[in-house]
Amino acid sequence: MSKMYEKVFFEDEIINSEQANLSIASSAVLYGLSVYTVFPLSIGADGQRYAFRLQEHYTRLINSAKIIGIDTFADKWSYESFSNAVKQVIQANIVSNDVYIRVTVHVNENIAGTRSRGLKTTLSIFIYDAIPILSPDGCRLKTSVWRRIPDYAIPSRAKVNGAYVNSVLAKQDAIDSGYDDCIFLDVNGHVCELSAANIFIVRDGVLITPDSTSDLLEGINRRSMIEIAREDLGIEVIERSIDLTELYIADEVFTTGTSANISPIIEVDARDIADRKIGPITKKLQKIHHDMRHGSYESKMNWLTEL
Ligand code: PMP
Repeated sequence: MSKMYEKVFFEDEIINSEQANLSIASSAVLYGLSVYTVFPLSIGADGQRYAFRLQEHYTRLINSAKIIGIDTFADKWSYESFSNAVKQVIQANIVSNDVYIRVTVHVNENIAGTRSRGLKTTLSIFIYDAIPILSPDGCRLKTSVWRRIPDYAIPSRAKVNGAYVNSVLAKQDAIDSGYDDCIFLDVNGHVCELSAANIFIVRDGVLITPDSTSDLLEGINRRSMIEIAREDLGIEVIERSIDLTELYIADEVFTTGTSANISPIIEVDARDIADRKIGPITKKLQKIHHDMRHGSYESKMNWLTEL
């Protein structure tokens, strides 16, 4: 487990993590009624601390709250006040290695019943060591018996805490079966994503990923890699439905995500993917992804905020 840093932002101030508590009667605790985002803060070769796509993380947080009907957050927290709170929590701790920063909007009203509007919200921000959840050297996936929550039940597009029970079920099932992570299928049997990462395949030099209506989280790394592949590398990228069996015969399969990074998939459901070798596109994107977050990928320096 990762180390959590001691000073956190909670409500409107910096306090010690053990003092940042929610009531057992709050909607956040009772119903998992919180939305969140998590982004990396990476130490560049120049010693600077770089936050990755802070504006996009703020926008996704606002959109998650909007989808769920949590309506007291956006009015109070502008991008400026949000990024200022992030800055405060970084300054309150000593951050000298790569970390993740988790920002959560909790519905913090007691015994409010199963509703979302007009309720008090509390912002929390904490920092923890950036330990990737998947190996950069190759991962083994198992198709989950649990299906991805559809947009008409709990939208995967909204990063809502309670929905992560779906991910926990599928990830634990994969681990129990001796695999590293799961592949989620939607109710029609198409590929969605992993428990906490998006998925890409390569077929005949074309990069393919499930389109954003495939019951997945619209990952910020997913979008970033699509843009880099198209604009910087001239690789064709198609967003469309993917059949499970396309994974089995793909030339390359890899993940994208804040804590999954670009991780090569070498086995799916006891089938070797491309002789368990890491493919050239995966390798190239893996390096770019690392450099991009650490301030050494020239064309996307505008995606970074020095904090
Ligand atoms: N899907 C799910 C379910 C996730 O939890 C994550 C991690 N946040 C991702 C995809 C990847 O999203 P991002 O690239 O924004 O980290």
